[in-house]
Amino acid sequence: MKFNKKLENITTYEAGKPIELVVREFGIEPKDIVKLASNENPYGCSPKVQDAVRAIIGKMSLYPDDSMIKLKDALSKKFDVKNENIIIGSGSDQVIEFLIHAKANSNSKILMNSITFAMYEIYAKHVGAEVIRTTSQEHDLEQFFEIYKKEKPEIIFLCTPNNPTGDCADATDVLNFIKKIDSDTLVVVDSAYMEYAIAKDKSKEIVIKDLIEQFDNVIYLGTFSKAYGLGGMRVGYGIADAKIIKELYKLRPPFNITTLSLEAASVALEDEEFVKKSVTLNLEQMKRYEEFAKKKNIDIINSYTNFVTLSLNASQNSTEISNSLLKQGMIVRNLSSYGMNSIRVTIGTDEQNSRFFELITPLL
Ligand SMILES: *Cc1c(COP(=O)(O)O)cnc(C)c1O
Repeated sequence: MKFNKKLENITTYEAGKPIELVVREFGIEPKDIVKLASNENPYGCSPKVQDAVRAIIGKMSLYPDDSMIKLKDALSKKFDVKNENIIIGSGSDQVIEFLIHAKANSNSKILMNSITFAMYEIYAKHVGAEVIRTTSQEHDLEQFFEIYKKEKPEIIFLCTPNNPTGDCADATDVLNFIKKIDSDTLVVVDSAYMEYAIAKDKSKEIVIKDLIEQFDNVIYLGTFSKAYGLGGMRVGYGIADAKIIKELYKLRPPFNITTLSLEAASVALEDEEFVKKSVTLNLEQMKRYEEFAKKKNIDIINSYTNFVTLSLNASQNSTEISNSLLKQGMIVRNLSSYGMNSIRVTIGTDEQNSRFFELITPLL
């Protein structure tokens, strides 16, 4: 059977290996598996969320509230924007899909960092758009601008903090960059890890209200999958000028967020203590990785997220090391598919991190 030609050179997104598969492939008990591969919150989610979800469990036969009024109200209150500035996606991933379909086609160019979140390219290929990348590993906004001037892309992705490297541009640099971009180019500020970045360095904070008031060609993306600990609920959001949101809405399937997910995200937003605790513990545990890397003479990228990227030495092979860890029930992310001899490790609990250090030491 012939399929859409655009699918021919798309490689399927490689998600962090699920615990269920490690159980099946290696016969390891779930309790002996540690997954530090998908940047999930190792402390779970707010207990208030669990109570709230339990309380509405009887509502499953009804379609969800497709106006998403409770979650939109909670987000607009938190970020001081209007409901018309918000779109909710099944993960911010889905908002990325909407915006690429809304703005790009097979004549379009999409500019992104050399190494960045893999879904941008996959969705770009859905519409046959050309992907253009910078060459430097960190976001070099001057280089972004040089390429922008020459290529005039329809969309520019800034992933800040960046996944899978963990570095983060300064908020003022991002704003100064956007000022120079013409109003018909859509700038995407994907800040899935912003809660972690702000806890480490205030200068990374992008104030969403200011951003969308100043620019009508920018969309800010956030998610409940990381600091809020709701990866399994699939909720993310885009915040932008109402004119952008209106177009994205044309692509949204009805009821794209389940009743339980809407409730979970709304309640999660209210429990700021939980997020604060998570980001504080994350920073504490990050220090252990920095010390470990120093002791082992391995480069570690200064991270503004809940993961660290270890740039291995030439004598160490990221594929061999991650496979060997996997066989022992330790799931991390090998970055060889990004052309890096590195592994990305989600910062876990104290105990999970100790286990990681213990298992990787003989492999170095
Ligand atoms: C995790 C992540 C997302 C989106 O995650 P969802 O679970 O789809 O909300 C988006 N961008 C980056 C850079 C991420 O790391």
